[in-house]
Amino acid sequence: MIRVAGNVLDNHQLGSIEYAAAHLGCPLVIVLGHTRCGAVGAALHGESDGFIRYITDEIAAAIGEERDPLRACEKNVLHAVGRIRHEFAGHPEIENVSVRGAVYDVLDGSVRFVD
Ligand SMILES: [Zn+2]
Repeated sequence: MIRVAGNVLDNHQLGSIEYAAAHLGCPLVIVLGHTRCGAVGAALHGESDGFIRYITDEIAAAIGEERDPLRACEKNVLHAVGRIRHEFAGHPEIENVSVRGAVYDVLDGSVRFVD
């Protein structure tokens, strides 16, 4: 499990995924966003500063013009899924790992795949 605010990716997360898949045999990567995400909300409302800005800028780029919080969350998840798939395309030990995206509903505990 790799936990990071806003399920954003940088080289640290990608390195952890690579290690888990190539060296530990992890067969499945799930990018799991969640409803009522404060990081997505901050990206939607442009209210962040300091190092948090790195997170919200990444989310803002992922969600584009979307303003609905749930659809923004889904778009942010799909952005990360696409990036992981792209980064490891052609990687001999990782290209067969399944990469999926899902959203956890904090109100009812359900998880719904979005890809
Ligand atoms: Zn969150």
